[in-house]
Amino acid sequence: MSFLYTDNGERKKTLASLKRVVVKVGSNVLRGNPGGQTQALVDQLVSLQARGIEVVLVTSGAIPLGMTILGKTTRPKDLAKVQGLSALGQCYLMRHYENACEKHGMHCAQLLLTAADLRDRERNMRVTACIRALLDEGILPIINENDSVSVAEIKIGDNDTLAAMVATMLDADLTVLMTTIDAFHETDAKTGEFGRRFSVVTGLDQELLAMAGSTDGNPYSTGGMMTKLHAASICTADGHALAIVDGRDFQNLIRFMDGEDIGTLFCNAGNRNPLRSWQRFLTFFSEPAGAVVVDAGAEEALVQRNKSLLPGGVLGVSGIFRKGDPIQILNASRQEIARGIANFSSEELVRVCGAKSAQLPELLGHPVDSPEAVHKDFLVLK
Ligand code: GLU
Repeated sequence: MSFLYTDNGERKKTLASLKRVVVKVGSNVLRGNPGGQTQALVDQLVSLQARGIEVVLVTSGAIPLGMTILGKTTRPKDLAKVQGLSALGQCYLMRHYENACEKHGMHCAQLLLTAADLRDRERNMRVTACIRALLDEGILPIINENDSVSVAEIKIGDNDTLAAMVATMLDADLTVLMTTIDAFHETDAKTGEFGRRFSVVTGLDQELLAMAGSTDGNPYSTGGMMTKLHAASICTADGHALAIVDGRDFQNLIRFMDGEDIGTLFCNAGNRNPLRSWQRFLTFFSEPAGAVVVDAGAEEALVQRNKSLLPGGVLGVSGIFRKGDPIQILNASRQEIARGIANFSSEELVRVCGAKSAQLPELLGHPVDSPEAVHKDFLVLK
C-alpha cells in the first residue's frame, strides 16, 4: 500500500502550478438548502478563478431536487419517473447556479453529457472545444449527466466518474470531489469502522479498494467511496491528481487549495506526464470496434520494445472495423495488451494476416504507404 497519514509535500507540488481544476459536488452537500449551498459554492469557485485558475463544475443534485419539488422521499423504481425527476430538478438546479453566478456578474453554462458523447472521438472533441470556448470567455461550465436520455448502454452512472472523465478530456491538473465525508479513511473491511485519515495516496491497490464500500446507501445519492476511488484511478492514470474534500463547508475548498493538510490527495508520483489527447481518448473513452490477436513475437515487440504492430504478427481478426477505428490488441491467451487505431479495415487485415510487409500491395491490390497494422504512435499499452 502506498499512502501517508500526513502530507509530505505532495500538496505543495500538486498545487504549485494549477491551471485548470474540475470541482464536483455531490447531491448530499446541496440538499436542504440548495439555493444557499449553490451560492456558497459559487463564492468559492469565483475566488479560485480570481487566482487565475480555470474552473469547471460537475454537479449532481438534479434527481434529489426533483424529488424535493414533488415531495417524494423515496426514489421511484421506474426509470422514466427518475428521468422525469432529473429533467425537472435540473432546471431548478441551474436556476440556483444562475442566481449565484449573477451575484458575481458572471455567467454559467450548462452541458448535459452521456457516455456516448464521450466515447465518440468527434463528439468528445466537440465537447472539449465547447468547454474550452466557455472558459476562454470566463463563463463557468456546469456539467451533469444527461439522466433523461441515459439508458444503461450509454450511462456513465455516477458523477465522480464523469468528473474524472471531464478532467482528462480537458487536461485538468486537479479534480476535487466535494462530498459529505472529510476524507478517505482507513476502514475495517468487516465492520466498516473508520480509522485514521489517509492524507496522501500514491497507489491504489486491492487492499485500499477493499476499504471502500460500494455505496453509502443514501436514497438521494449514487456514489460512495468506491466510485471516488475509481475516479482517482482514472485521474492518476492520466497523470493528474484528485482530492476528496469535505463539502459540508465549501470553505474547505480554499483551505485545501491553500495547502492545508485536509481531505485526501490521490496522486501518482511516478506519472506526472500527462497523456497526449489521442492516447487519453484511446485509454479512457474509446469503444473498440474489433480486435486483433497477435503472436508471441509481436507481443514482445509491442510490450518490451515499443514497436508498431505489423500484419506479419497478427494471428486473427475479430469484429468489423474501418481504417481509423479503435481496436483491441490481444495476445495469444486473449488478454488485452494494448489498444490502438487500426491502419487497415478488418476486411483488409484478414487478407494480410501473417504476411510480410513487402507482400501487402500484391495481396491488397493497391499501393501501401505504411505497412503497420497499428502504428506505435497510435497505440497505448494496457
Ligand atoms: N446525475 C445525478 C443527479 O443529478 C447524480 C449522479 C451522481 O450523483 O453521481 O441527480
